Amino acid sequence: MARQTESTSRKLLGHLRAVMAEESAGQERLDRITKIIAEQMGTDVCSIYLFRDADTLELCATEGLNPEAVHQTRMRIGEGLVGRVARTKQPVNTADAPNARGFRFMPETGEEIFSAFLGVPVQRLGETLGVLVVQSKDGRSYSEDEVYALEVVAMVVAEMTELGAFVGEGAALKALHTQPALFRGGTGQEGAAEGRVYLHEPRVVVTNPIAEDPHAELKRLQEAMETLRGSVDEMLSSAGASTDKEQLKVMEAYRMFANSRGWVRRMEEDIALGLSAEAAVEKEQSATRARMEQVPDPYLRERLHDLDDLSNRLLRLLTGQGKDTGAEMPDNPILVAKNIGPGELLDYGKRLKGIVLEEGSVGSHAAIVARAWAIPLVINAKRILTEALNGDPILVDGDQGIVHLRPEDSVSTAFRDKIAMQTQALTRYAEIRDKPAQATSGEIISLHMNAGLMADLPSLDNSGAEGVGLFRTELQFLVRSTVPRRSELAAIYGRVMDAAHGKRVVFRTLDIGSDKVLPYMKPQDEPNPALGWRAIRVGLEKKGVLRMQLQALIRAANGRPLTVMFPFIAQFDEFREARQHLLDEIERERKLGHPLPEKIEIGAMLETPSIAFAPRQFFEMADFISIGGNDLKQFFFAADRENERVRKRYDTLNVSFLSFLKQIVERCDATGTPLSFCGEDAGRPIEAMCFSAIGMRSLSMRPASIGPVKSLLRRTDLAEAKAVIEEAFESGAQSVRPAVIKWITGRDQSS
Ligand code: PEP
Ligand code: MG
Repeated sequence: MARQTESTSRKLLGHLRAVMAEESAGQERLDRITKIIAEQMGTDVCSIYLFRDADTLELCATEGLNPEAVHQTRMRIGEGLVGRVARTKQPVNTADAPNARGFRFMPETGEEIFSAFLGVPVQRLGETLGVLVVQSKDGRSYSEDEVYALEVVAMVVAEMTELGAFVGEGAALKALHTQPALFRGGTGQEGAAEGRVYLHEPRVVVTNPIAEDPHAELKRLQEAMETLRGSVDEMLSSAGASTDKEQLKVMEAYRMFANSRGWVRRMEEDIALGLSAEAAVEKEQSATRARMEQVPDPYLRERLHDLDDLSNRLLRLLTGQGKDTGAEMPDNPILVAKNIGPGELLDYGKRLKGIVLEEGSVGSHAAIVARAWAIPLVINAKRILTEALNGDPILVDGDQGIVHLRPEDSVSTAFRDKIAMQTQALTRYAEIRDKPAQATSGEIISLHMNAGLMADLPSLDNSGAEGVGLFRTELQFLVRSTVPRRSELAAIYGRVMDAAHGKRVVFRTLDIGSDKVLPYMKPQDEPNPALGWRAIRVGLEKKGVLRMQLQALIRAANGRPLTVMFPFIAQFDEFREARQHLLDEIERERKLGHPLPEKIEIGAMLETPSIAFAPRQFFEMADFISIGGNDLKQFFFAADRENERVRKRYDTLNVSFLSFLKQIVERCDATGTPLSFCGEDAGRPIEAMCFSAIGMRSLSMRPASIGPVKSLLRRTDLAEAKAVIEEAFESGAQSVRPAVIKWITGRDQSS
């Protein structure tokens, strides 16, 4: 690092510190800052652009461009060179701006005479707040040192923005963390909750981004690094033989980063340029987060994640801000966290009204606990931690996986109405809980629930489900770090059957692969995992695991009836072979003198179109068939179920798909094979009604859907519904949905 740059940068930051300390309005401060930067860096122009909304940047202060353009010039993210810096989170440095890729001419600024352009993102913890730009008339290139120095200044500007130093009039100068914000994540547990944010780990606030004494800051960083390394070493040495390999690998990666010279050197250089130790850590953390977004390789992304975690620890060591900041828990607390372990969640207890996680997954332990307590949980609410502050009003919509932070009054009112309606509807559903799902035309549809965890079982009674139509056994495998033992599995399955009190539970054997990757299984490098080595294909090749699971199921039944279903059967032989394994295991148990199930049902999931066209003997051999509509639909339309963009194009009630389902019903009817549908669509009332109208008599769904589905079925004449569907089939329509909705609405209005 050139000493010249070091001293310029330190001087510059010294001036900024003075501006920060002044009692002046936000706009004035911004104006002073652009002037100081232009002067100290010897450039003709310095401008600061800040976001006025999520997509639009606004010129907020300038030295050198036309002052009239301030608060007038705006650009969308990605637009022009400034927009490009904001989008890529990378500097743009060019000697010939007008001819650079993406340049956009903005006549009102008078910038056409400045050919040299350097823009750097103003970012805090990976969140871009704006863009800092310097420009010069001469066609020079800014040196690497100058780029670096401007990044350091941008870091301080970001901290000042976060601390509210630039609050003024207009959208771009609004105070941060005051506006309503919407986050879209995923459902972890259904339900709605209104309350106030309680942060599991409150954000670190850096109040001193600029170093007074770089030597002292270097020493602080070194001391904090030593403590950090010490704690990582201790973690590794205390990890006994029982620690699993995965965990050890993560710890080793931690140690590698904690000893990484590159990381420490960059932070030391930042300090030499005038940043405080905390700001230097944050600056590198921002860069890590920006990289994290751009790295497609999941392994590398995980490693960057580790580095991010270490930076957090370092920041907490430096600021002394621990988890326990003494913030009082508000009334109706909604816990907001990056992720949380089950133990920590249990410590909070049932007083939480809702939970929002930036990460998390449906199969996580935290989700298990949240479900058991029926606390609404939204997972994958990206970036909520950079926005939410302790005490912020918040609405959690677990059904839609949506979170409203600091909602507008109108949103809160609508949300309260929704909660009230849900409460009313729940009362209505509770009234019909013990009644059958009998259509007005007389048919009775049996409604079952889907489950995957012990904690789901209480819903069997609450929802009025007749049984568990799909027990996804892979969740037990996903939530642990090693392969469960047979005895453990047998104990779990046994408890599931106990909790079902004699109601039928359909255990689906392990369905891994595709999106369900076991932490302890070597990831398969497959170009198309959904079409790859998954489910029964794994089971038939790794027979040991399949057989172990089948033994566990037989032992769990301990003389009671047992129902097993094999996933992803694509051809008759796969079913025959899997079924034979079960029969062999029963024989083996018999020879061992163990009690055998009183009755055995062996079914197949119909999840690929091919098996719908299997020989009649397949339908005869299967004791029952369950349509896995989630997979079946993705293969029918060749549209990835995980890819919203294509998934949304194809309606389940599309005429082609519905008539395909009807053919499956007919084939099953011909052989008297009981048929059920257990994909997500079974839980949507209109879909469930159409499936019933084309002849299905058994559906399995999320417990919360049983009430709404039953309620609609009990109001429906299925013969009439069938006539509406058939008419729509004949009409050339793409989907029967419009006709069905029109019919239901007309019917409900006239009743
Ligand atoms: C399905 O594919 O519809 C199904 C029930 O299985 P999963 O969603 O677990 O793949
Ligand atoms: Mg499936």
